[in-house]
Amino acid sequence: HLSERDGYAPLNSDFDNFYIRRLQLRINDCFRRPVTGVPGRFITLLDRTSDTFNATFKLSGTTTQTLNMGSYNYLGFAQSEGECADAAELSIKKYGISFCSPRADAGTNELHLEVERLIADFVGKPASTVYSMGFVTNATIFPALVGKGCLLISDQLNHASIRYGARLSGAVIDMFKHNNMADLERLLRERISQGQPRSHRPWRKILVAVEGLYSMEGTMCNLPGLVALKKKYKFALYVDEAHSIGALGPKGRGVCDYFGIDPSEIDILMGTFTKSFGANGGYISSTKAIIDKIRVTNAGSIFGESPTPAVLTQILTSLRIIAGDIGGSQGEERLQRLAFNSRYLRLGLKRLGFIIYGHDDSPIIPLLLYNTAKISAFSHEMLKRKIAVVVVGYPATPLISSRARFCVSAAHTKDDLDRLLAACDQTGDVLQLKFSTGIAGGQ
Ligand code: PMP
Repeated sequence: HLSERDGYAPLNSDFDNFYIRRLQLRINDCFRRPVTGVPGRFITLLDRTSDTFNATFKLSGTTTQTLNMGSYNYLGFAQSEGECADAAELSIKKYGISFCSPRADAGTNELHLEVERLIADFVGKPASTVYSMGFVTNATIFPALVGKGCLLISDQLNHASIRYGARLSGAVIDMFKHNNMADLERLLRERISQGQPRSHRPWRKILVAVEGLYSMEGTMCNLPGLVALKKKYKFALYVDEAHSIGALGPKGRGVCDYFGIDPSEIDILMGTFTKSFGANGGYISSTKAIIDKIRVTNAGSIFGESPTPAVLTQILTSLRIIAGDIGGSQGEERLQRLAFNSRYLRLGLKRLGFIIYGHDDSPIIPLLLYNTAKISAFSHEMLKRKIAVVVVGYPATPLISSRARFCVSAAHTKDDLDRLLAACDQTGDVLQLKFSTGIAGGQ
């Protein structure tokens, strides 16, 4: 290998000590362990022989079953039994495992067309196109929509995939403070006028990108505020519904459904199938003209493998259940269960005196640990009580707002959440995490 002695910096040279130390500490966390089985209501972790600060460890051959508070399995479709799994099995028998081709070559199957039709209907748009990965959907869509001479304005906390795509596009990028409509308006005013009358704004296109539900904060975008600004400043609006599709709104149809806003107000509705649908991949829904354009200009679908048969069948079956086309009232019950569970856990944590972030209806519930040193300790204490949680710290969060992040699922029972609350209560005392005596009385 080339080294500094040869005048080259080694390829790992930017991986500085701070990150290595962080990784070594986090190696004790639940989800630093490999898992086995289905990531459903419970998740099975493979045990290690020892808890060392060494990144390499050995598996002991035994396992621990834990309550799963970490997977984005909002509607409980991550299952190996039931309609979805049965249909996916049949689909493999019929179509095989992979289409072995991108969409633009020999990889467009009847299943793709069916998923595209169904998801467009579900989100209330005329057309859709699907991708084999949510990350790739965002990372490759922006260059297909905007480029040189365009302005792309992004919420400060947008997902890494949006930031990747934005950079690839070549557009000028600006950021506004998270969910802050006044800051967005300030930016629009500054950027649009730039000393010229509005009719001579210097940009070919202006695109504002936000998320429906933010995965580190549990906050919901201010869709009514965004739509009002869009009318005033005439920009195009892009909403990433990775965490809100299937999880928000009385019919599970995302933020438009939640706020009662007509989907035609939003130019691009993007989403992923990895959360509420228990599958894989992403979609873009928009007008037919825009979808026709991105089908032939988006590198992600022209050069990348098309979504696979079992995955498409999982999407089709779960979508039909949520929409109530099959499975009787099952879809509605799952949505209601998720809404109940989200509020129940949130209220329970507040009553115990924890500081939590996010919207009351969000199934993502971040519990603030603040101190980096408590990240691993929290995860460890929960694991002792057979509960697996995701803990997050810098650089995914600001240095002083480390947090645990619970993902509520329709698969969780009230008893599961009570067990989690009892474990948080004890752990909160051990780690001094409670910041108040809880909300008085409670509703
Ligand atoms: N967008 C958002 C907002 C996300 O949170 C994620 C991943 N969690 C993605 C896109 C990428 O999706 P996927 O994991 O399905 O590739």
